[in-house]
Amino acid sequence: MELPFFVSSYFKRLADDCPELARQVFPSEMENVVLDYEDSDPLCDNRNMPVKRLVHRYDDRVLILVTDRCASYCRFCFRRHFTASGSSDISKEELQDIVGYIARHDNIREILLSGGDPLMLANSKLVSVLSSIRNVRRDVIVRIGSRVPVFLPDRIDESLIDAIRDFKPIWLISHINHPAELTDRASNVLSLFIDAGIPVANQTVLLRDINDNITILEELFSSLLRIGVKPYYLLQGDLAAGTSHFRVPLERSFSLYEKLSCRLSGLALPVFALDLPGGGGKIALSRSSVEYVDDNWYYFRSREGKIYKYPREE
Ligand SMILES: *Cc1c(COP(=O)(O)O)cnc(C)c1O
Repeated sequence: MELPFFVSSYFKRLADDCPELARQVFPSEMENVVLDYEDSDPLCDNRNMPVKRLVHRYDDRVLILVTDRCASYCRFCFRRHFTASGSSDISKEELQDIVGYIARHDNIREILLSGGDPLMLANSKLVSVLSSIRNVRRDVIVRIGSRVPVFLPDRIDESLIDAIRDFKPIWLISHINHPAELTDRASNVLSLFIDAGIPVANQTVLLRDINDNITILEELFSSLLRIGVKPYYLLQGDLAAGTSHFRVPLERSFSLYEKLSCRLSGLALPVFALDLPGGGGKIALSRSSVEYVDDNWYYFRSREGKIYKYPREE
C-alpha cells in the first residue's frame, strides 16, 4: 500500500533549507522499487495483535495504535500497513476492549501509545485513553511515542501538558533524526515535558544520505543530551516496502556506531538496535551479535533464541 504525502508548513519551511529534512518527507520515485524481502508490515504487527489496535510482542509491554495520523509522513515509515490507512482515531469500543485485555494481563508493566502519532489526538481523546488505562492499572508506565515536537511543535502547549500531567508516570519518546530538526521551538516544547516531570528519551532512525555520518550523529546526540533528552535507540532501517534507498548497509552502520561509541559518553550514546524482520523483536546490534553471515544475509538470534536474517545490501 502506498503512503500518502503530507508535510506540515512548519516542517516544509525547515526542509526548504535542508535537503536532509526534505528527503525524509517528500516522496521519491525510488519508493516504487519494492524488493522481494520487503513488506508493508515488516515487523509483523498483524501477527501479534490479540485485540484490534493492540500489539503484544514482549511479555511485559504492549503497544496501542491510537490513531493512524501523523503531523507529516516519513517516507521511510515501517508501519505503512497502518499509517494513514483511514482507520482514524481509536473508538470508545476499541479502547474498552484494549483496556479489558490490559486488566486481564497483570504482567504488563509498560504501555506504548503509538500509531500514527498519539499527539495528533485532541486533548480530550488523549485524556480518555490515559484515564481508561489508569482506571485499570495505576502502576503501569505509559510511553508516548511522537514526532509532533519535530513536525508541529505549536501543537504542544501548556494545556496539553496540564491535560496529561495527572497521569504520570509518563515518558515521552521523541523521534528526531537530524540536528536541523532540533530547532529552538522543538527544544522548547521538549522542555515543557521535562519541566512537568515527564522524562524524554529519543529514537533516531539511521538514514542513508541523511544522518549516516559521524559528525551529524555526534552533534545530534550531544545536543539532545544538553537539553535533557536521553538518546535511547539508534535504529537500523526496517525492511519496509519501497524504503531500500533509505537503508544504510549494515557493514557501514557497524563502522559508524563503533566510531560513535569511541567519541560519546555513555549518557550521550544510544543503543544501536534492529527490530528483527518477521517479528523477532528488537536486539542490540554489534558485529559480535552476528551469529553468522553468508553471501546475501546476516543471521541474528532473537531474545527468544530463534534465528532471523537481515540482508547484506550495497
Ligand atoms: C519497540 C517495541 C516495544 C518497546 O521495546 P523497548 O525495547 O522496551 O523499547 C514494545 N512493543 C513493540 C511492539 C515494539 O515494537
